[in-house]
Amino acid sequence: MTRARVVVSLGVAALLAVAFVVLPTWSGIGSVLAAQPVQQPPAADVAATLAAPTPAYRTESREVGEGELAGEVLRAMGLDAATLVPAAAGRFDKISPGDRFTADWRTGEDKPFRVRLAHDPAQTVELVRSGDRYVSRVVPVPYRTEELAAAVTVTSSLWAAATEVGFSPQQILGLAKIFEYDVDFNTELVEKARFRFVLDRLTADDGSQRVGDIRAAILDNGGKTYVAIRYTTKDGTTAWFGKDGAARRKTFLRSPLEFSRVTSGFTTGRYHPILHRMRAHKGVDLAAPTGTPVRAAADGVVARAGWAGGHGNHVELKHDGGYATGYSHLSFIGVKAGEHVHQGEVIGRVGTTGLSTGPHLHYEFLVNGVNKDPMKSIVPIAQPLPDAEKPDFFKVRDALLPMLEGATELAASPARETPEQKDRVSL
Ligand SMILES: [Zn+2]
Repeated sequence: MTRARVVVSLGVAALLAVAFVVLPTWSGIGSVLAAQPVQQPPAADVAATLAAPTPAYRTESREVGEGELAGEVLRAMGLDAATLVPAAAGRFDKISPGDRFTADWRTGEDKPFRVRLAHDPAQTVELVRSGDRYVSRVVPVPYRTEELAAAVTVTSSLWAAATEVGFSPQQILGLAKIFEYDVDFNTELVEKARFRFVLDRLTADDGSQRVGDIRAAILDNGGKTYVAIRYTTKDGTTAWFGKDGAARRKTFLRSPLEFSRVTSGFTTGRYHPILHRMRAHKGVDLAAPTGTPVRAAADGVVARAGWAGGHGNHVELKHDGGYATGYSHLSFIGVKAGEHVHQGEVIGRVGTTGLSTGPHLHYEFLVNGVNKDPMKSIVPIAQPLPDAEKPDFFKVRDALLPMLEGATELAASPARETPEQKDRVSL
C-alpha cells in the first residue's frame, strides 16, 4: 500500500440548510473527489465488441438508497431476495446508503452466478452460486491510500453544491457528525461556516475509488473554531480529540434529532396553541417528519416509557450527574422502563401524540430536577487523552494540521438548483 499526499480543493458552495440527515458513512465520495481520466477504447477493441455475437456474461449493479434494506435492493434488481439474504448469513445486514450490489449472470442462465456487495472499502462480500445454493465469502480488496485535504464553505445551498461536484448532501455532512457535540446543526450552523478536512482516498487495482476514514477536520463557525483529530489509542480505541488531546465526545449530544428545525424555543411563558392560554414551555420543539429517529442524548437509564397525558407517548432518561432528558409526542416508543441506553441509540420515533398540533419532538433537559434550555446548557466533557499517549498523538496531529490549513477551495460555480431539490433540504 503506497501512501501519497495530495492536496485537493473542492469548489463547493454549501448551504445554510439547517436541515439534513447526517450519515456515518462516507462511501462514494471518493469517486467524485478523483478526476477520472476519460478512457477512449482503442479502435481495435471497438471493432471486436461490435463483432462479438453475445457477451459471455452481463453485469447489473444498484446503489443502496436511503433507508433501503438488502432484500429491497435485491428485489428491485429482479433477484431472489428470499434465497440470497439468508445465504449471506448476516453479511448483508449492515448496509448503508451508497453501498453497491452487483450481480453477474452467465449468458443463458436466469440466476446470477455471483452477487457482490461493496460495503467496506477493504473488502467485498460475495455470494457465489453452486447449483441452486449460494455460498457467501469475504474477499479482501487490495487498495492504495492517499490523504486528501479539501474545504467546503456553507454559503447558499448545500444541495446545489453537492450536486455540482456529484455527491449527496448526506455525504458532505458526514463531516457534521464529528462536530455534533459542539454545534447543533439544526440551529447553530452559520452562513459561511467552513469545513476543512483530511480524508483517505482508497484506490483499488481496478481503478475504482472509495473514501476511507476522515483523519482530521476543522470547523469555523461564526467566529468559533473547532479542531478534531482522529487518533487510535494503544488499547485500540479510535476517537476524536481536540488540538490539545482533549476528548471531543461529550456527555450530551446537542440535539436528539439529526434532522429537524426548532419551531418553539425554551421560554418561561408562551401562548399555548391548544390550551389557548399562557404557559411556560419547558423544553424545545423540534419539528421533523413522523417516524424520524429520536436518539438518546446521552448514556442513561429509562426512567419512564409510556403514555403521559399531554406529552403523549413519552420517554424519560436519567443520566449520571443529576441530569435527565425527556422526549414527548412520540409515534413509537422503542425502550422499556429500567433499560440501559447508549448515547445515540434510537429510543423512539417522532410523532404527534398527546397535546400536539403536528409532528415534532418536545425535548426537555433537566439538571437536578429543574428544566433548563437544552440549546444553551453547558455539558460536561468526557476523559481527555492520557498523558502517556500525548507524544504519539501530537505527532499525528502535527502531520495533519498543515494539510488542513492548506486546504483551499476552488471558486464556487453558480448553483444549479431545481425547486424540487431545494424542497428536499429546506424541510
Ligand atoms: Zn413543546
